[in-house]
Amino acid sequence: MKPIQDQACPLCNSAAEFKFKDNEHWKHFVCPICTDYNLSVRAEERLQKLSPSALASQLKEQYSVRAKDVPQHMVFELYTEPGPTGVSELRDRTVLRS
Ligand SMILES: [Zn+2]
Repeated sequence: MKPIQDQACPLCNSAAEFKFKDNEHWKHFVCPICTDYNLSVRAEERLQKLSPSALASQLKEQYSVRAKDVPQHMVFELYTEPGPTGVSELRDRTVLRS
């Protein structure tokens, strides 16, 4: 297991930390603003591709709030799935904390 690494939070840009999980397909972020959440590496790339744009800022703000608002025993996750056009689209879900 890799150690904890520093990275600006992809959602709110605060100084945050993450740890890779699931073969480095996912990052688990711990952020002073968003609390904690899981972000797939593809979803992170997707967010980066959208940035900087009004849409990206809006999405990130919404995701940040939602990550913070999930109950303690749940975790907010952001990932991608191929949409109707075959282009990967951002999806979110709330899962039981493992
Ligand atoms: Zn954050």
